[in-house]
Amino acid sequence: MRVALVNPAWSFDHSIYFGCREAHLPLELGYSKALLEQGGHEVLMLDGALDGLSNAEMAERVAAFAPTMTVLTTAPTYLFWRCAQPELRVPREFLAALDGRGGRTVAVGPHGSTTPAPTLSKLGVDLVVRGECEEIVAKLADGGALDDMPALAFHRDGDLVVTGGPHAARFTDLPALSWPVEWLQRHPHHHHRYGTEPVGPGAEVEASRGCPYNCSFCAKIDFRDQYRRRDTAIILEEIDGLIAAGVRYVYFIDEIFLPRRDLLEALVERPIQFGVQTRIDLWKPDMLDLLGAAGCVSIEAGVESLTEEGRASLDKKCRMSTDDLADRLIHARRSVPFVQANLIAVAGDDADMVKAWREKLLAAGVWANDPVPLYPYPASPDYRRLWGEPDDRAWERAHEHYLGQFERLSDIQEDEPLPLTELEAACSCR
Ligand code: SF4
Repeated sequence: MRVALVNPAWSFDHSIYFGCREAHLPLELGYSKALLEQGGHEVLMLDGALDGLSNAEMAERVAAFAPTMTVLTTAPTYLFWRCAQPELRVPREFLAALDGRGGRTVAVGPHGSTTPAPTLSKLGVDLVVRGECEEIVAKLADGGALDDMPALAFHRDGDLVVTGGPHAARFTDLPALSWPVEWLQRHPHHHHRYGTEPVGPGAEVEASRGCPYNCSFCAKIDFRDQYRRRDTAIILEEIDGLIAAGVRYVYFIDEIFLPRRDLLEALVERPIQFGVQTRIDLWKPDMLDLLGAAGCVSIEAGVESLTEEGRASLDKKCRMSTDDLADRLIHARRSVPFVQANLIAVAGDDADMVKAWREKLLAAGVWANDPVPLYPYPASPDYRRLWGEPDDRAWERAHEHYLGQFERLSDIQEDEPLPLTELEAACSCR
């Protein structure tokens, strides 16, 4: 089968989108391509940012390829599925330009994983894949009855058919990915690295997927939930390929990069630096020293609240005191040049305490952000606590709640975020 895989050309005007807007490698499409090619299928993989193409230009390339199936992601790479933009404006723009010339259309991503019905109708695609997508995309290409495949949603005779819940891939043995050289050359971005000029291309890699915790705000119930570790030999094969292609920095997109001695010791010997997101309470001082020696130059650690009650209200299951967390962050900073403690705005925050804590950490070289507001993503426990299981208005409801909750939005977002219905109606193509 001929299969087109598309990461559209993103824009986030008036969006509440929290994620980084630089170009990143679309890992979910990379894995899909690898599995499809293992199955003997022919693949065209396009990425708006990395190919330097608009949605209309990508649609023309896809139409010229004449695929039997076109797979489109609704969020810019796995890295951002947990903080995806709520609106489906951009994927819809690509599909409108494609105008039925891509064969069967399939949407993958966080939106359809949690709310398949509105994703099908907003996008007008033939199928939605729920959950982690690469194995299901490969199954679809291999053929067979849709009803016999897991994790799909589609319409038949006007009725919604959902063949099962969101899919969790095996993940551990997903093959080492290699990327087009021109994509790496268009990827100078070193994700979440600060305080230095990036040298050489950056890349994103996955060492583990999911997380054993269930923090109330974390939008991973329907994808990337259960914790799995990828085989170390495969990770190293992928990183060695990236190094050979000139990459000098990789960002591990893992929800939680847990201490892993074999991988870190192998990285000590390699000419590569890297960044991680993790929980500092899970790292002992000697493992933090090894993390720095292995080449880690960026840690983003979720502290979230400065009180034990605040952390408990977010279900952090953190066993450390706030002072111990600060000490551990400061210890990490001895060998890692950029360490960030993430804080979330929690009702009842003591502004003076937050200010003093931030100043204490800053004096030790650790960055702590101004607490940011939470968005109750439909795939998070917070959403379900507020409103129950997500229904067809879940994204609209979360959006209205969020816009109504805060006077000031995080400085990484657009100044004037619009209601979701307006944002999606603003699509110029329909
Ligand atoms: S520890 Fe991090 S990844 Fe895990 S549930 Fe909490 S916020 Fe999500």
